[in-house]
Amino acid sequence: MQIVDALKHARQRLIASDNTDSDSVRLDTEILLCSVLKCERTHLYSYPEQILSNDESESFNALVDKRSQGHPIAHLTKQKEFWSLSFHVTKDTLIPRPETELLVEIALERIPINSTKHILDLGTGSGAIAIAIASERSLAMVTATDASDKALNIAKHNADLNNIDNINFIESNWFVGLNSNAYDLIISNPPYISNDDKHLKQGDVRFEPLSALASGKDGLDDLRTIIHQSTNHLEKQAWLLVEHGYNQGAQVRQLFTENNFTSVTTIKDYSDNDRVSIGYLI
Ligand code: GLN
Repeated sequence: MQIVDALKHARQRLIASDNTDSDSVRLDTEILLCSVLKCERTHLYSYPEQILSNDESESFNALVDKRSQGHPIAHLTKQKEFWSLSFHVTKDTLIPRPETELLVEIALERIPINSTKHILDLGTGSGAIAIAIASERSLAMVTATDASDKALNIAKHNADLNNIDNINFIESNWFVGLNSNAYDLIISNPPYISNDDKHLKQGDVRFEPLSALASGKDGLDDLRTIIHQSTNHLEKQAWLLVEHGYNQGAQVRQLFTENNFTSVTTIKDYSDNDRVSIGYLI
């Protein structure tokens, strides 16, 4: 079968399944075929008549089947780009999200280029945030924690893949496994979805670890812990930056203020949703 026909059939199968977002069907099928052919997407347009071998067709069909069952593209290709870096992705961590790049951007504005400051990324998952920061600030000392040893192994692997050697990985449930070190900046994309949010049963998130997504009745359990306990682990004149849900800005700012943070601000993501809140501890 030719590339052009394989893609057309795949699109039809995905549209017929209830599990995929029809807006992304074209892109999804192209990414999956490229992962089989190990090519760039432009190749598919330049050589639409190229005949797929039996092995290639079979591999592609198997991926399209999985996608039609709802499996995330990043799990099928086993990789996801974040901050122009490539991350190995498995079912053991959250898949890095584009909106989380905002958190990295805001952190970098607060870490001078040649800074040797101590940065802590809590709940690093795939390592996306810690690795992106470490890649931009090679003299900074970054600590990345996760309560899951499986996640931590993936994060370490991703640091190696991206030639990053200024991150110290520690297995820790938030601050529990950390000694009394004080950090100059703490950053986290914790779980923040309400346990009974119906979105947890829809789409790609069904295949991601619930422990990386859900956090109590109002989704704020982990943010409460992080914001409160950060005050014991920050140097003087230091920032805490957290990601949160689009409707949690006011509550998160209140948590910051209750814990004596100043300059408390919420920043919107590119979809114009409240996404990141920050506070400064004097
Ligand atoms: N933004 C993610 C989502 O809505 C949630 C990530 C998180 O809980 N940290 O799927």
